[in-house]
Amino acid sequence: EEKKSLNFIEQIIEEDLKNGYKKEDLKFRFPPEPNGYLHIGHASSINLNFGLGLRYNAPVNLRFDDTNPIKEEQEFVDSIKRDVEWLGFKWEKECYASDYFQQLYDWAVEMIKNGDAYVDSQTSEAIANQKGTPTEAGKASPYRNRSVEENLSLFEAMKNGETPEGKDVLRAKIDMASPNMLMRDPIMYRCVHKQHHRTKDKWKIYPMYDWAHGESDFIESISHSFCTLEFLPHRELYNWFVNKVSKPGDFQPKQREFARRNLSHTVVSKRKLAQLVEKNIVESWDDPRMPTISGLRRRGYTPTSIRKFAESIGVGKRENMIDLSHLEFCAREDLNKTAPRVMGVLDPLKIVITNYEKDEEWLEAENNPEDESAGNRQVPFSKELYIEQEDFKEEANRKFFRLKLGKEVRLKNAYIIKAESVVKDEMGNILEVHCTYDPKSKSGSGTEESQRKVKGTLHWVSIKHAVPSEVRLYDRLFSVEAPDADKEKDYLEFINPDSLQTITGYVEPSLKESKELDQFQFQRIGYFCVDKTSTPEKPVFNRTVTLRDSWAK
Ligand code: ATP
Ligand code: MG
Ligand code: MG
Repeated sequence: EEKKSLNFIEQIIEEDLKNGYKKEDLKFRFPPEPNGYLHIGHASSINLNFGLGLRYNAPVNLRFDDTNPIKEEQEFVDSIKRDVEWLGFKWEKECYASDYFQQLYDWAVEMIKNGDAYVDSQTSEAIANQKGTPTEAGKASPYRNRSVEENLSLFEAMKNGETPEGKDVLRAKIDMASPNMLMRDPIMYRCVHKQHHRTKDKWKIYPMYDWAHGESDFIESISHSFCTLEFLPHRELYNWFVNKVSKPGDFQPKQREFARRNLSHTVVSKRKLAQLVEKNIVESWDDPRMPTISGLRRRGYTPTSIRKFAESIGVGKRENMIDLSHLEFCAREDLNKTAPRVMGVLDPLKIVITNYEKDEEWLEAENNPEDESAGNRQVPFSKELYIEQEDFKEEANRKFFRLKLGKEVRLKNAYIIKAESVVKDEMGNILEVHCTYDPKSKSGSGTEESQRKVKGTLHWVSIKHAVPSEVRLYDRLFSVEAPDADKEKDYLEFINPDSLQTITGYVEPSLKESKELDQFQFQRIGYFCVDKTSTPEKPVFNRTVTLRDSWAK
């Protein structure tokens, strides 16, 4: 930890601590808008803010930026809390910008009285047309010099719902010639006659982001307010507003910006993800193909793997694209240590052990070679087994280390078998492979035969004991790296039509007892997670990730 060099955000804080900030001044927040589910991009921001909290032993608030009732819902608030908790972070206080509506309103009235804000009665088009260009000053609204009395009564009418939506807005009176377009009399309030998920019908006006965000930071005494780079030009306005509401000597929050993180072959924008749900392209926000925290959880990602991912990509000043394979790598690394090994066959080929005389026997199998404490379990063996179709060929060259006629392989945790003959249908398809086994070659029995070296080891299941299961094989949701890079094109055109394949697999009976979110390594295949729709009669498994990166060449 000591040796790790500081990232630029930590450097900013260290500088501040040298220049007069006290450790007790440090306070951070994570400020999601409850207009959708959290996605993997948010994991970066969560890891940054809560990570700083842990590093400096400072409080971190969970603040809902709920200033737009049109898109916000309680369902999203609940999901955000669940996801942050699941990632393993604890917030100091659960805060809502909507709790500050009265305070913001009172401050706005003060600003009107001080000549710092006015009601503009123009259409939004007219206001936009007067903004000017970055090199050309804007034009003042004809309403810019309304009297304080008139402004107060118009603002009051807005608040009481007497003003129709889209008619009047409250604007800060700053500078129509500022080189920063955002300083050209930005809108502070607009009329929205819609129920808010928390304040219900109380408010008919809602504050704009710029007016609410810094003020919320100020109210909560946040020391450092980290946001993504597109807010860099907002910093001047952030400071202007905070100056208006604070008194000299008040502790002032500081906005600093870091780069958004994008993930390849998907989109990280709540608005775009919402469309996938609305258009039924995916099943829900927690569809295992979604890059949402809830989708990743259902897919089998662990909190550790997501935190590791965020940590490893770090914070930066330039936006970049992280390849999905890096996220998958983080999943494999963690699951390799923690996921119990089991056997399941996804594409079955029947094997008959012709010289096997017993009805069945139960064999000892190690649960996780990476974790001694994981112990052992029993797996049933019998005369008729399934192996994978691709693990048998009648003839093959010397590099095929699986089963072929006349050659031996080991069945994992069981015996060495030799393929003797095949049974085919009239089309020539192989229906069964008849094998013999070496009764003295049982794994772990210590006999000379058990230690005999054979090239291949296959996974298998006993047919009469196997549990037919629904297995969902997921692939990338989009077939191109950056589906939303080209603004001229609709990202929905790049949906991968084969992102989900549902098959029946046959798994060992120990899996009947598995519960939602249990993770397993299906040996030689990949990592799988029990879906929420799974039952003991009909288990359902989601493939988290294959064992190796099948995309790497
Ligand atoms: P979206 O476009 O998906 O709605 P947002 O930035 O509007 O994203 P917020 O709910 O406002 O979503 O985000 C909460 C915090 O998460 C903000 O500080 C935001 O900057 C940060 N954040 C959102 N997306 C990313 C991302 N891709 N990478 C890093 N941080 C992000
Ligand atoms: Mg936002
Ligand atoms: Mg947004």
